[in-house]
Amino acid sequence: MVTLMKQIQQFMLKYIRENAALIANSLNNFLPFQKKFYSDDCVIGNRRAEKLREFLGMTEHILSISQSADQATVITRCADKSGPLMRMKYGLVLVKASWFIKNIELECTACKGAPGNYGCPLCKGNGWHNLARQKHVAPRPIIPPLPPFSRF
Ligand SMILES: [Zn+2]
Repeated sequence: MVTLMKQIQQFMLKYIRENAALIANSLNNFLPFQKKFYSDDCVIGNRRAEKLREFLGMTEHILSISQSADQATVITRCADKSGPLMRMKYGLVLVKASWFIKNIELECTACKGAPGNYGCPLCKGNGWHNLARQKHVAPRPIIPPLPPFSRF
């Protein structure tokens, strides 16, 4: 008999593993696409590949799991070759005996996930940034404006 906590851990380990494989596949698919459509010195093409390599170079480890009835919270930490990065908080729900991710929050870089700092201009005291309401999260990547579209 597998406990609920073990089920959640297995679900998250599978998610982390398959998410990394998905990113690796995306990069493998992107490279021939980049060669086909972007010049070697195209900033946009290089930036897209760089972003995928950056995600691919990250690892994610489970720090804690808490569970009550049909919901669970899993906190993980991401790291890259330079060391630990931010923590992530996953909100999970149990639907028909299967776990699903319902929500993901990122640790506030200023408050480090500690709530109550209502003066924080980034999270307003929440300690975390909800990716579903992504207004104050990390700045969006800077992409130069697109040239005017031609008419065909
Ligand atoms: Zn904050």
